[in-house]
Amino acid sequence: MKDLKAFADLIKQPKKIVLLSHRNPDGDAIGSSLGLSYYLQLKGHQTQIILPSEYPLAFEWMKDANKALIYDLSPHDSEKAVKEAEMIICLDFNSLERIDKIGLKVLESKATKVMIDHHLDPEPFADLVFSEIQCSSTSEIVHNIIVGISGEGALQPDIIEALYTGIMTDTGSFHHSTSEEVFTICAHFKKLGLNDTRIQELVLNSQPDKYLLLLGHCLHDRMELYPEQEFGLIYLTKEDYKKFDIRRGDTEGIINYLMMLKSVKVGALVMNQPTIVKLSLRSKGNFSVQEICKVNFNGGGHRNASGGSSKLSLEETLIKLKEVMKVKESVNT
Ligand code: 5GP
Ligand code: MN
Repeated sequence: MKDLKAFADLIKQPKKIVLLSHRNPDGDAIGSSLGLSYYLQLKGHQTQIILPSEYPLAFEWMKDANKALIYDLSPHDSEKAVKEAEMIICLDFNSLERIDKIGLKVLESKATKVMIDHHLDPEPFADLVFSEIQCSSTSEIVHNIIVGISGEGALQPDIIEALYTGIMTDTGSFHHSTSEEVFTICAHFKKLGLNDTRIQELVLNSQPDKYLLLLGHCLHDRMELYPEQEFGLIYLTKEDYKKFDIRRGDTEGIINYLMMLKSVKVGALVMNQPTIVKLSLRSKGNFSVQEICKVNFNGGGHRNASGGSSKLSLEETLIKLKEVMKVKESVNT
């Protein structure tokens, strides 16, 4: 990591540090932010995590997650924290568009900016950049930074729990983006006392009953398969949002069911959220959904897992997506 020495020098003296992650924060966004924040606190820094929007209920158990400022709920305090920060660390995103309005405040700030991320095509807004696209998760990079600077002795239990949560969720419970490093890091976490089953129970097996009702609805009534294009999609209407009381995090994991099908190489979940149409895309093999999201839906991510959004109506977005995927006609619904 080429900027490691520079980062180590920057954190030698105690500072006011803001850690920022992306809107609709996932386990990696929260885990990497908390993990790094604990480490920086141990080194005497004053830290404040800011998230543009609320995190899913599945992460409410995480110690200190409730100390994060949510921009949507506390814009004034969040802007104040950014203004007062001497250093701003951007985790798990690489384009300021991903943090909404607070991105402007980050641009205006004179603080030293650090980017720690594993997505494709980073924007050049940071002074120090850890852009490691081969890494499973931002949490893995944070692990490497901590160990690189302070050695394995710095991995205390809170840091381990936070980083494991990020690695576990971003690899889909070790289904993808795995590597020798990922398993080595997690084996080491276990050796140091990590209770991984507890975290899996808390994150994965703690869904409210409505989760399965919604899943059933998605699979039975909202799924379309296009075998010729090896493409499948699930969509959710505004009425579905009301009927199933869908909130942050409730649609997490649904797209994985599409990807279980042998006939599906590219899958999409298209959600008519209250303010925007949001897309989640997944692919198998070389097909790049990052390219599709970047070119057509103002988004990005990884080759096999990307997201984006659309200002068109749900119907128009579905038509556009099918055009992009070269679907000729509706085969079945
Ligand atoms: P998900 O489909 O689970 O929301 O996101 C899949 C991946 O794409 C994640 O790594 C996420 O950070 C990224 N992603 C999701 N939505 C967007 C978006 O609107 N813009 C960009 N640049 N990346 C996104
Ligand atoms: Mn991530």
